[in-house]
Amino acid sequence: MNHRRWHDRCTIPVADETRHGRTSLLRFTLSTAEKTNLLNLDREAMQAFFIGIGDKPFRATQVVQWIHQYGVDNFDAMTNLSKELRARLKDVAEIRPPEIVQDQVAADGTRKWLLRLDDGNCIETVFIPEAERGTLCVSSQVGCTLNCSFCSTGHQGFNRSLTVAEIIAQLLVANRALGRDPKAERIVTNVVLMGMGEPLLNFDNVVSAIRLMLDDYAYGLSRRRVTLSTAGVVPIMDRLRAECPVSLAVSLHATNDRLRDELVPLNRKYPIHELLEACRRYCVDSPRTRVTFEYVMLDGVNDSVDQAHELVRLLSTVPSKVNLIPFNPFPQTQYQRSSQEAIDRFRDVLIAAGLTTITRKTRGDDIDAACGQLAGRVQDRTRRRQRLMARTIQP
Ligand code: SF4
Repeated sequence: MNHRRWHDRCTIPVADETRHGRTSLLRFTLSTAEKTNLLNLDREAMQAFFIGIGDKPFRATQVVQWIHQYGVDNFDAMTNLSKELRARLKDVAEIRPPEIVQDQVAADGTRKWLLRLDDGNCIETVFIPEAERGTLCVSSQVGCTLNCSFCSTGHQGFNRSLTVAEIIAQLLVANRALGRDPKAERIVTNVVLMGMGEPLLNFDNVVSAIRLMLDDYAYGLSRRRVTLSTAGVVPIMDRLRAECPVSLAVSLHATNDRLRDELVPLNRKYPIHELLEACRRYCVDSPRTRVTFEYVMLDGVNDSVDQAHELVRLLSTVPSKVNLIPFNPFPQTQYQRSSQEAIDRFRDVLIAAGLTTITRKTRGDDIDAACGQLAGRVQDRTRRRQRLMARTIQP
């Protein structure tokens, strides 16, 4: 099915901003008018919630376990809570993930869910099964502000950042849809924050969601198996390292500032030398000893042998691994995918120089789930899509 058609099933109900964003402690002093969505709370915030309703903080561990480990969304099923507490929770709280609007499986087993948020925006989440692991690619924003020129999400414009609930629910929904049995092996073994959006521009909510991913009473993933991918928001990379270090991937895509300014406009603010400095700092005490650099292969733009040598020089002082990503074209793009020969030549230069280099397989491209193709449905506040369309149809 043409995914653009099923995106159109999303409707646009009245926005309810009060349901978004991290619930503050103040709100736990119970305005009964609105229920607290417990998916917005990591364990620390959940403890504050239980204190706020006059109960014990250890309830947080029990409820986090019910929701995230056992996938329970019905308070009556939480049998180690008293009947009174369950009744109280029904009055003041809810467990409300986004609704699945579409569930598609690609020929290679890649699975993509379109999730509708309360305000009518839609985001996409992708599960990529492999022999040794199952990776979930999670979105952090509705659209993206950064407007990288080769990225479908960037072209969609931007609406808002996701709440903690909307981020962690992607893992919850995937586990449910994949039929995860909490007593059996994990199906989702790795999470990559590489979907729609720049996660470091939604830092607080992303970090709370990551804390749930790492929490042994929730998803229990190791820091090495959670990867945050950034276009290079340098000051916030330092915050991440200090507050919640996980594996780091950096969207590099170019070997000099002139080209990177064009491909990743954020580079004008944080140029390559500052970005690599931040990567070096990140590697100290990092969960992984090296940074993964993502490099999309664009025909005739960044894929020459000379550029491969430049990349080797650039990364010589950063412990690195390189992922070469064959470009996935989308409507209105001016770029083409590099030929397989160009990708192989580029890769061979890096490998000969001792850089660990992997050419990523294109997964799920028959359902537009491949890298850089996620588009969701964004009520664009930037008017970027309109401007782009106007440019495209001008003679
Ligand atoms: S590549 Fe990442 S940072 Fe750049 S526009 Fe796309 S989603 Fe945003």
